[in-house]
Amino acid sequence: MPSLSSKVKSINCRNFINGEFIEPNHTNTFENVNPATEEVIGWVAEATKEEVDLAVQSAKKALKGPWKNFTVKERSSIIRKIGDLILENVEELAVLEATDTGKPYSLALEMDIKRSAHNFHFFADYVTSLGNESYNQDNIALHYSVTRPVGVVGMINPWNLPLLLLTWKLAPCLASGSTAVMKPAELTPMTATRLVELCKEAGVPDGVVNLVHGFGSNSAGAFISEHPDVDAITFTGETSTGTVIMKAAAPTLKKVSFELGGKNPNIIFADSDIDEVIDTTLKSSFMNQGEVCLCGSRIYVQRPVYDQFIEKFVARTKQLRVGDPFEDSTDVGAVIGKEHYEKVMKYIQIAKEEGGNILTGGDRPSHMEKGYFIEPTIVTGLTQQSRCVREEIFGPVVVVMPFDDEEEVIEYANDTHYGLGATIWTNDLRRAHRVAAQIEAGMIWVNTWYLRDLRTPFGGMKHSGIGREGGTHSFEFYCEVSNVTIKL
Ligand code: NAD
Repeated sequence: MPSLSSKVKSINCRNFINGEFIEPNHTNTFENVNPATEEVIGWVAEATKEEVDLAVQSAKKALKGPWKNFTVKERSSIIRKIGDLILENVEELAVLEATDTGKPYSLALEMDIKRSAHNFHFFADYVTSLGNESYNQDNIALHYSVTRPVGVVGMINPWNLPLLLLTWKLAPCLASGSTAVMKPAELTPMTATRLVELCKEAGVPDGVVNLVHGFGSNSAGAFISEHPDVDAITFTGETSTGTVIMKAAAPTLKKVSFELGGKNPNIIFADSDIDEVIDTTLKSSFMNQGEVCLCGSRIYVQRPVYDQFIEKFVARTKQLRVGDPFEDSTDVGAVIGKEHYEKVMKYIQIAKEEGGNILTGGDRPSHMEKGYFIEPTIVTGLTQQSRCVREEIFGPVVVVMPFDDEEEVIEYANDTHYGLGATIWTNDLRRAHRVAAQIEAGMIWVNTWYLRDLRTPFGGMKHSGIGREGGTHSFEFYCEVSNVTIKL
């Protein structure tokens, strides 16, 4: 089995503007830390305001360059090639992703990197299948729509699924003919830095894809959000950051697409198949250390099966192996960094103070001396009013609560300002439809979780987002549409 030290790989991360990496002057770099070892693994060049402006100007210029005249088929074949190159470099990218995030290498390989390639392959196919909307109005007039690229798109990304979420934005952006200024999260800059090289290798013209590194406030994130020549912002991250970006984008009326936080209910009715529930609930609770926006961190279990669920769920959670992301046997890696580790541990403390019972976990694993590791943690005994039930923890911590009937659990599920995802477990078909229709969430799974089809709408309601991604929903964001009316 490869050891942590032999597999870890890192690269220094430069800004990529107009098809070239920019050499930093090294007064403006920050350290990149491996969360599994706490070691500094490289440096990242923080883009200055002038560099962000250069990136935006090069993206603006590229809209009118050769890219403008690429046929749909040519764009499609470049997008497909990027996906192919990701697959050709799948292991290297997975090592970089696991090193940057602390997540298990096996998960980075299967979920982050292979699905990133799939994002490009999907939109390469999708864009060639599009037609235009048209209406013949009683032979009086013919109306048809013409789409064009929205322009320069700022892409601001989180650290939990760095390449996957970035490519989920970049693929439809390229399909539309728009151009991009991308900013990865400051904590996970490496795969985005490799991606721009692969884009160049695939034949993306200079200036179409630009990459700037840095932080949010008073750094690259803010410089993109307020830049007058950025036409649209697509952002995935915390709800509170979304409000700041929206304010910054307001004076220049940018189009926005926001994928924000969640506090997703996982509702388990007594008639469901408990063993299947447990298998999937382990994933929906602790996959990627619980650092997936769709994780079901509020688990509501109908009273007749509550004790049985708890007994089995706790036993299986105790079997999860926390540790070295590069060990094949690892189920749960390190959380993203020191600040986040402290935040999650604080919530565990709050759970105790609020009267919660920690059934398993609640601490760092004793066998990991270094690194930001947290044991998968199950809390019971809390009420709907508890902070751990209401606030997004975004770590390996779930709260389990009993309920009696359908009406009660729907009320609990909707008692949040979030509305991203939900899972319902039942073998009663009518109940599944009935409950799904009443849950205020953008994505609802019945008897499964995280099963995705890239054509379906992805996103949240309430404070979990604005707009949807996926298939047509993504594509339309990156386009402007004009209607043409011809009198017949
Ligand atoms: P974050 O909001 O702290 O940061 C996300 C990005 O925004 C980073 O690149 C950061 O540098 C940038 N940023 C921060 N402040 C900014 C500012 N003032 N102006 C411009 N940019 C700014 O989020 P995070 O901690 O990286 O990610 C975790 C959050 O993301 C969780 O809330 C999670 O639920 C959410 N998320 C949502 C989805 C979804 O699809 N809805 C997917 C993944 C993650």
